[in-house]
Order: sequence, then structure tokens, then C-alpha cells
Amino acid sequence: MSATCTTCPYCGVGCGVLATPDGQGGAEIAGDPAHPANLGRLCSKGSALGETISLEGRLLAPEIDGAPSDWDTATALIARKFRAAIDQYGPDSVAVYGSGQLLTEDYYVANKFMKGYVGTANIDTNSRLCMASSVAGHKRAFGADTVPGTYEDLEEADLIVLTGSNLAWCHPVLYQRIAAAKEARPEMRVVNIDPRVTATCDLADLHLPLAPGSDVALFNGLLLHLAEMGAVDQEYTGAHVTGLEASLDAASTDASRVAEITALDPALIARFYALFARTEKVVTVYSQGVNQSTSGTDKVNAILNCHLATGRIGRPGMGPFSVTGQPNAMGGREVGGLANMLACHLELDNARHRDALQTFWNAPAMAERPGLKAVDLFRACADGRIKALWILSTNPAVSMPEADAVRDAIATCPFVVVSDLFADTDTARLADVVLPSAGWGEKSGTVTNSDRTISRQRPFLPIPGQARPDWRQICDVASAMGWGEAFRFASPAEIFREHAGLSAIAGRLDRDFDISGLAQISDAEYDALQPTRWPITAQRMGGRFFAEGGFFTPDAKARALPVSHRPLAAAVSPEAPLRLNTGRVRDHWHTMTRTARAPRLSKHIAEPYAEIHPADAASRGIEPADLVRIESAHGQATLRALITPRTAQETVFVPMHWTALWSSE
Ligand code: SF4
Repeated sequence: MSATCTTCPYCGVGCGVLATPDGQGGAEIAGDPAHPANLGRLCSKGSALGETISLEGRLLAPEIDGAPSDWDTATALIARKFRAAIDQYGPDSVAVYGSGQLLTEDYYVANKFMKGYVGTANIDTNSRLCMASSVAGHKRAFGADTVPGTYEDLEEADLIVLTGSNLAWCHPVLYQRIAAAKEARPEMRVVNIDPRVTATCDLADLHLPLAPGSDVALFNGLLLHLAEMGAVDQEYTGAHVTGLEASLDAASTDASRVAEITALDPALIARFYALFARTEKVVTVYSQGVNQSTSGTDKVNAILNCHLATGRIGRPGMGPFSVTGQPNAMGGREVGGLANMLACHLELDNARHRDALQTFWNAPAMAERPGLKAVDLFRACADGRIKALWILSTNPAVSMPEADAVRDAIATCPFVVVSDLFADTDTARLADVVLPSAGWGEKSGTVTNSDRTISRQRPFLPIPGQARPDWRQICDVASAMGWGEAFRFASPAEIFREHAGLSAIAGRLDRDFDISGLAQISDAEYDALQPTRWPITAQRMGGRFFAEGGFFTPDAKARALPVSHRPLAAAVSPEAPLRLNTGRVRDHWHTMTRTARAPRLSKHIAEPYAEIHPADAASRGIEPADLVRIESAHGQATLRALITPRTAQETVFVPMHWTALWSSE
């Protein structure tokens, strides 16, 4: 049997995968040498994909109140409940919570359904937790949510700054690409900024173990240093950037206290600043350590400021680079998957954009104001404002912050639908209706990776039982609510064409996301679509943004943003003497609903643990491998103590993957 070219469903690297069914329900998996993201490489998670696709535990038919049902009954019930809530309490009484696991086509119809037909922007996604700070930072600086660079920049750079990013474990194939580039060019330098010593430090020439939450001060200090050393590109900033003077003013207070705020050795700071100042080709890679923060957006802008000031953006080997956590976080952003965005990077608060979208969709009830964002959305479930909630392809009962409260909120909501592969997830157990979705290997559509490359996810297994793709579930409910004309899509290719057609309008409205070159694509061409980086228009294919300015602001100039360090909301105190830091392990993914099914992926790290500094362990009488209990205002967990100087004193690191399903405490 020949291999199917598809993409890995885990991280935002977006590796190409060759999958060959083994006839037993599994598949042989190999890296796709022709895919530009990985060129044949795969990490441990990607390699084990074939072991995660068995039908064991799969939900094969809709369930209502825990009993098997059928699609007609379930669809009619959902439509009736949503309609009743809208009629009685208004469109803002219903909500959808999606995921960066959804394919772009699923995401597109979900947004069209909510923002154009229900008439509310109460649709948000777990990408809110992962990427919303980058989206906001990009929009503030560039006027659009644009990732300027490409993966090739990581290989062409002379200096790579990794901040808030354990690339070795969280984006392993990008780490491998950088490692290979460094081996070929040993003069390449890598700086790793992370409170912990992680596996990524193996590649680093310099590790800056900064205090949690102090990134803005570090980059503000860098901005001032760049100005003092004459590294500001006067020509570029004069032509293409505003706000630099104000940003330097704002940075100056932090700059005088960088060592104090970051708790870093001044000599380390000086080495980092000097390296950055003298290296033209520099890429700053950042991910969740920057984004997932109460000051995440300011951290993003502090980084962007340094690249704008030096004009090191949009040219080979240069630029800020946000790498996404999930396989289709970028696709979700493109279709307006967040509660404050519209499809094709159109702006929800721009009347021209709303009107253009309403006309294109022939939409009866266009959302006019931002909806509830993830955290607020579940709070609104708890306080009774949300009467009907549909959760697609994610497990918020354990993956949201304040998970215990979110679980209670979902349990409180009068009507909850969950679309998933399994009925036994922590969230699905709380649902009134559970819908069986098609899984990886069965569904068809597109995803966009961190460097704007759109790739096909292709099916190579039959969809089991009565399972259905998410896009079809949404279209069927929309039809049952009376909007069949607008949701009469026969295939993901039809949805893709509509999305690409809309992007032409967005392009004419000066938006960056324009894939109008694919608007007339045939079904056969869609099936055969090769990985393609956007923009894709008659005038332009892929490439980088902003080397010559051309920002998506009214004056086409970027905005350097004045930002200042803000202390973390909760100080370490006698009552709460340790600060908790979380992250991923190498071989598991999110809440392990898939990776726990491959035994070899649990060989690397078999159980949840807490990294504790030897001094903190000694003062509490904790011995290696003791079970320890960690408590905060938000919950508690029992974990195996891992005593190591890799974590700083007064901090504890706990991986995020294990839930009550896999580890009861
Ligand atoms: Fe999948 Fe990411 Fe690993 Fe690539 S690096 S194989 S996309 S998990």
C-alpha cells in the first residue's frame, strides 16, 4: 500500500508525515523528506503516531446523557437547545470553545456559524492560552497578526535567542534543524533564556536563568543598550517605525535595574547584550514561556521593539519568531478563531471589515463586538450567563487554568456538547451530548504551521462507526437551525475555496492574509496541494514580511510600543513560599488523550513529578522520589519529588500533562 502524505497533529512545527496503513488499524510512520518543515525528520511523538490510532476506547456513535443515540436525534437536540437559548436569552447566551487541533476548514465553519449566523463572537479556543499574547503583540506592532520570518531563518541566523522556549522538548524538529545548522557553522551562537536548565541548554552558548516574569526588563535593557551602542538602524526606523523614542524612555527605568529585576549575573547580561548588538543576523524565538503570562503581550512587544529598532526583521536570518504550540494554532488565527477576531485577519472592531464579511457571508446577524475569551467564557458558564456550550476537540476541564473551577462551570452549564474521539475525557464526562469526531488519519483538511506554511492533512484510514468530521457536525446543526443554504458544503475543499475567496477581499482591505491564488482550486488540486507558505496571490508567493516596511497600519509604519516591567501578581510569601512553573515533557502531548496510548512514549518519563531545588528539598525534609503535595489557591496535586539544581531555589516545576484520568491525585 502506498504512503499518504499528511502532517503531524502535535506541535506547531507542522512536520510532514508519510503514513502507510498496516492493515491492522495502525500505520507505518515516516518523516516526509519533501516537506519543507522537517525534510524527513520526526521527533519521538511524531514517530509513535502509528501506535496512537487504534480504535480502543473510541466513541463510535453520538451519546445523549451517556446513552447511545444517532446523528439525527443529537443534531436536532443541539439545534433545539441552541435556538431556545438564543430566543430566550439572546445570542450571547451560547458559546463555542475550540482548539488548535481543529483543521482550518472546521474552524472556518465554526466561526461563520457563530459570528455570522448566531450573531455572537462567543467563540474562543485553547489557542487563547497558547498564542493570544503573540496575536495581540503582533497586531499592536505590525497592525496585523503577521509572523514575518520563515524556518530557513533559523538556519541562516548567526545568533538565535530562545526565550521562554524549551525547543528541544516542545518543538524538537526545529531544535534538530538549529543543531544541524550549528554543527555545520560552529560560529553560530545560541542564547537560551529560561528560569530552568532545560534540555535546550545543551545547544546554548549562553544560558540566562532569569527570574520568572522578568522578560520585559531584560529586553527593555537590551533596547537601551542597542541605542547606546549605536545599533539602532536609523534609516529603517526613520522610514518604517514610530514610537521608538517613547519606547526608549519607558525602557530606561527597567534598564537601570535589569540585574535586580531579573536576578541575573550582570556579566551574563552584558555578554548577551554585546552579542545581540554586534550580530546582524539574529532571530529571537519565543513561545509559551513568553506568551503564557499576565504580561505576555508586553513581553512580546519588548522583543519586537528590539528587532524593529535594529531593522532586523524580514530579511534572511533575522526577525522575531513566535513558534506555536499546536498544529493549527496559526490556521485558527487565520479564520478568526479567537473571540476578538474575524476571518482572514479582518478586524472585529472595524465596521468596514464587518460589513465586507457580512456581505460575503450573506450573514443575517453579524457579531459586532468581541465575545467572551476563554477564561471569561467559563466564568460566564459558572455564573449562568451561558446556557448552551459546544466544546470541540479539547479538554478544558483539565487544560484550562483554574481547572477545578472550569470543571464546576462546565458541570453547571445547562447544556453542554463535546465533540471528541473519546467519551471518557475529563470534559466529555461532563457533557449532555458527546459527538464522535473523526480523528487524525481519518479527517481531511488543511493546517498552517508556525512559518505560515499551509499543508494538507490527508486521510489514510476509514472513519470508524458513525464518527463524523467536525466541519460536518457544525454544518448539520447550522442547517437544522435554518441556515442550510450557507452551510451546504459537500467537502473540506469547498470550505477551503470559500475561505480563500474571502481572503481576496481581506487582501483588498490591506490585510496580510491573502490566499486568493487558491480560491479557484479544483477538488483534485486541493487533494494534491503541496505545502505552500502564504501569502498566495497572483502577485506574491510566500516569502518574508517587512524588510522594506509595508506594515498593516494606517501609515504603513510599525509601532514600537513603550512597555515596562510589571511584578508578578503574587509575590512569594511565607504562606506561599515557592513559585510554580509548568511546561511540557518531551514525549507527551497536552492532556495525554493520545500519547498515553503509545507505551513507548511513557518510557521517557512515566509519571508526574515536581522538580525541586536541593536546598528547598532539604529545608522541607524531602528525599529523592518522595511523594510531595503541592498546594496553591487554585488546587493541589501529589507528585514524585525530583530533586535537582536545574530548577532555581524558591521555584518548583511540574509538567502539565497528567490529569485525573491518568493520575488520580
Ligand atoms: Fe510532530 Fe512537532 Fe514532533 Fe514535528 S516536531 S514530529 S510536528 S511533534
